[in-house]
Amino acid sequence: MKKIVVIGGVAGGMSFATRYRRLNQADEITIFEKGPFVSFANCGLPYYISGEIDSRDKLLVAKDTMLIDRFNLIIKQNHEVVKIEPKKKQVIVKNNGVESAYPYDKLVISTGAKPIIPQVKGMDTIPYFTLRNIPDLDYIMDFIHTNNPKKVAIIGAGFIGLEVAENLKKLGLHVSIIERANQVLTPLDYEMSQFARLELEKQGIDVYTSKDLLEIEDNKLIFDDLKLDADFIISSIGVVPESNLAVEAGIKVGMRNGIKVDEYFETSIKDIYAVGDAIIVKNFITNEDTLIPLASPANRQGRQLADILNGLDVKYQGTLGTSIVRLFDQTFASTGLNEKQLGNRAYEVIHLLANDHAGYYPGATSINLKVIFDPKTQKILGAQAVGKKGVDKRIDIIATAIKSGLKVTELQELEFTYAPPFGSAKDIVNLAGYVSQNVILGLSKTVQWHQVDALIEEGAFFVDVRNTSEVRSLGKIKGALNIPIDDLRSRLDEIPKDKKIVLYCQSGTRSYNAEQILRPLGYDCYNLDGSYSIYSKTQ
Ligand code: FAD
Repeated sequence: MKKIVVIGGVAGGMSFATRYRRLNQADEITIFEKGPFVSFANCGLPYYISGEIDSRDKLLVAKDTMLIDRFNLIIKQNHEVVKIEPKKKQVIVKNNGVESAYPYDKLVISTGAKPIIPQVKGMDTIPYFTLRNIPDLDYIMDFIHTNNPKKVAIIGAGFIGLEVAENLKKLGLHVSIIERANQVLTPLDYEMSQFARLELEKQGIDVYTSKDLLEIEDNKLIFDDLKLDADFIISSIGVVPESNLAVEAGIKVGMRNGIKVDEYFETSIKDIYAVGDAIIVKNFITNEDTLIPLASPANRQGRQLADILNGLDVKYQGTLGTSIVRLFDQTFASTGLNEKQLGNRAYEVIHLLANDHAGYYPGATSINLKVIFDPKTQKILGAQAVGKKGVDKRIDIIATAIKSGLKVTELQELEFTYAPPFGSAKDIVNLAGYVSQNVILGLSKTVQWHQVDALIEEGAFFVDVRNTSEVRSLGKIKGALNIPIDDLRSRLDEIPKDKKIVLYCQSGTRSYNAEQILRPLGYDCYNLDGSYSIYSKTQ
């Protein structure tokens, strides 16, 4: 019988332990968790703040009794591992101030990631909180119930910050979000993130970007050009691997002290393994080192490590970083790499706008989808989507396509369930296949929203091919001539032949058709990718 010791009893640690038990009924499995709870739903914590998840009990995913009776695990809550001694193959564990040594044959570190705390003067003069576990949630709720605060400042506009913002707003607080970057939700590119910003503002949340917190004084947050009052702060400026134990034990670490593991999750020290937010993973697309603190990879890694230690032929394939967040009425999701991460690599971008199901069937809502691909290999590099419904399905399909190695043009081959209440005969994912093919074949030449100003400057002629009523109600690009697509053939004399012509509509479809009319006539024409629906969000 081997002694298996796990540090950290939540996503990665508990997935490991239960899978290990299913595969092996003999070994002793002990889980040390420094907090009071194991197997709780970190991801559900924000929703308890507003009462959307109405019972704290529901945050406990697997009850201790089940973990003990069904899986025969030794669960040690409130036991913090304070030292790993690899030479003696033991860990030192502290409980109620008392330290004891526990031997292991195999040690699994799944200690997760810890929130970064802003290091500014005056942090100790205002109540501030982070949200990582149930005790953190209790502190926040106790503070709210005791002090009845009116104003909260959320520092950091990532997933957790925005989820907390939504739930505090629903609780009736005045919420300000402050972010150092020039956008919220950095997994998305700027133009896609603007949909989130607009949704937050529509719901009455104040959003401040490109703001660096300098100091706090008398409940005032001081920025370069702004002072904000707040009764308390939620800090959500990101996380770093919780890897002190590993560092002190001499285990090799890399970026931000993330634990280095091989594809079998073994660290640089034999018989010590690590999974979850604490480790450095390979990016599935680039094969480069990265940190991707998400629940699905942590759970998968835990299970796979149990398989590996029980002799199954498994190795880790890397992480894509597929993520999603709901903000009030809108959903935002992404997979793979965004343009910021791609930097100088060669890539092509397409933006699409289509309904989640047939437009003529009641209740259709629009989805904005962005797909990034390598124009030479046609490899899909990433995708981002925004909309009220159906965003999860589209990004999940594209994430699956990336992992299956499908080319972007092969998205047109995918066959989906279709009836009007559920989808369209040409789903937006199929459309991404069609549009990418047009771009790759040169049937459509596109320009992007961020090139518009430079194009105007160099004298390009913009033609807006939407209906006049749309232009009147939605606005247009400054200086553009409005010629509705169906009038185009009869108004050609208004379009100069000696200038670059940029065509746009609302989604890019009508302007693509306009492009096909004009190009054979000798016009040097381009379709504004994403058209007015994207451009207008960036203004
Ligand atoms: P964790 O689940 O964090 O578990 C680590 C555990 O180790 C902790 O309980 C900690 O107390 C314990 N520990 C640390 N050091 C020691 C020690 N020395 N001794 C004993 N115990 C120790 N991901 C998503 O994909 N989708 C979401 O919607 C989402 N929402 C989230 C919302 C919130 C508020 C938070 C905090 C996280 C969210 N995440 C989400 C991230 C997700 O929860 C993590 O990626 C995942 O839990 C990581 O699993 P892990 O096992 O690596 O670490």
